[in-house]
Amino acid sequence: MQSVEFVRAWRQKAREWQERLQEPAVLVDAEKLAQTLAEGRPLTEAVPPEVPGDRLAAVLADVAQLLAGYRPAARPEVDRLLGALAGADRADQDALAAAALSGLVVPVEEWARQHGVPADLLLPLVNLALQPFMARYARALGRMVSWSAWRHNYCPVCGREPDVARIDPDNLRYLHCGLCDTQWQTHRLSCVWCETDDAKKLQVLTVADLEPFRLDVCDACGGYIKTLDQRHGGLWALPSVDLFVEDARTRKLDLVAAEQGYRRGGRVQ
Ligand SMILES: [Zn+2]
Ligand SMILES: [Zn+2]
Repeated sequence: MQSVEFVRAWRQKAREWQERLQEPAVLVDAEKLAQTLAEGRPLTEAVPPEVPGDRLAAVLADVAQLLAGYRPAARPEVDRLLGALAGADRADQDALAAAALSGLVVPVEEWARQHGVPADLLLPLVNLALQPFMARYARALGRMVSWSAWRHNYCPVCGREPDVARIDPDNLRYLHCGLCDTQWQTHRLSCVWCETDDAKKLQVLTVADLEPFRLDVCDACGGYIKTLDQRHGGLWALPSVDLFVEDARTRKLDLVAAEQGYRRGGRVQ
């Protein structure tokens, strides 16, 4: 489990990386992007994101060093990862980038096994290392096409499930992607996972010291999504709130949900 301090420090670094990385070239026209979205397919299916293996290795080394700073006990494993990255040739690096982009656990585990790196260290770190590349990619595509009509429960840009939701001051509900940082609107009064709108099946659970965060739980499918209610205004209503950091800060709510038998969709913990 990553500490909130580490996640916060990483997100600052991720924003710096995002500015330094090369702008991706988008070689398809806006009409094709709009058509892809209209078909319910994420944009990665129309424009595969380019993540050069050597750049990903550099970002991954950075995030691994940061982790060791916050969790000294992880230092030996981090050193093994840094050694593997230093010894990887370009084909190895590209293979890791492809494995990470697949969104699947098995290819990353396989890379870890081949390179003598603990998979349970590599998996979460490589997902963090992808963030600046994917945020940059999402920003480039967002200038070409709008996903304001998208109402699916997966990211219009990268296809991942949302990590958290927010209800904005105008009572509109948005989902957030923990990989590419995209937000998109969703139906206000239905389960994100099974889409039931049966009010008898939907509940809100709160924990006093974590409000305005809450759990939106569903007794039809047993799923939940953690939600920031921004209708109370104040600092929590600012657009600069980093939902990825807040997700980490409010893990107590996930424990409450798990104790009550609800399951979180998405995200590798
Ligand atoms: Zn995404
Ligand atoms: Zn449901």
